[in-house]
Amino acid sequence: MKGRIHSIESMGLVDGPGIRTVIFLQGCKLRCLYCHNPDTWQMGGGDLVEADDLIKKIKRYRPYFERSGGGVTFSGGEPLLQPEFLLENLKKCKELGIHTAIDTAGYGFGEYDEILKYTDLVLFDLKHEDPKQYLFVTGQKEDKSLKFLKAAQDAGTKMWVRHVVIPGITDQVDHIISLAKKIKELGHVTKVELLPYHTMGENKYEAMNIKYKLEGVEQMSKKRTEELTEILLKELGPNFYAEENETSSSTFIKKIG
Ligand code: SF4
Repeated sequence: MKGRIHSIESMGLVDGPGIRTVIFLQGCKLRCLYCHNPDTWQMGGGDLVEADDLIKKIKRYRPYFERSGGGVTFSGGEPLLQPEFLLENLKKCKELGIHTAIDTAGYGFGEYDEILKYTDLVLFDLKHEDPKQYLFVTGQKEDKSLKFLKAAQDAGTKMWVRHVVIPGITDQVDHIISLAKKIKELGHVTKVELLPYHTMGENKYEAMNIKYKLEGVEQMSKKRTEELTEILLKELGPNFYAEENETSSSTFIKKIG
């Protein structure tokens, strides 16, 4: 079975517990305003690879991630847009006893139950809790993402929720309060993180001759992100607490227990 890969990172530190081998799958149908990887968008791009060859590579990295309690994270682009290839790789990882995560906005297709059976952790990129704003931020309707979210909830898969805060777009206190409300409705969430918008991918747009929609928007300040994290924590209630992320010196929110 073959699939399209954008790239592989062997020492990922933020996409799941421990050290991760991160496989970036090619292809995404969303067009998030802040996307710093527009080179992952085209479905036909990237390198065509055999699942068996990919697993051979993963096995080579295994000593690094295994000692740290890490594993493999399938990211993108949107990994759910290659569901069969993703499933094949997840199965192979689980046969080898490797911890698996998928980093997704939920914007794929197909039935997700099989995929979730072999997924230990979902890193869910919650674009926006309001349907109109979801459309504004991503260029697509939220229904596909909600379908995946429901499947993950039904499967009881452990979930980390991540949300990008952009100055003037997703940094309002009202929005953070309704985001907290949405997160509180979800089960199996063990970690929540606000990610500050940065402009690091902007030069890729220029190189690819694509208009960068957030031109002129400042990067999100670390200080404001921390303040919003505090508000989010307060809104999430007593079942959550804040913890320092040593690798990025930022704060994230964890669920007690
Ligand atoms: S889902 Fe991810 S890869 Fe796709 S456009 Fe949004 S940020 Fe970019």
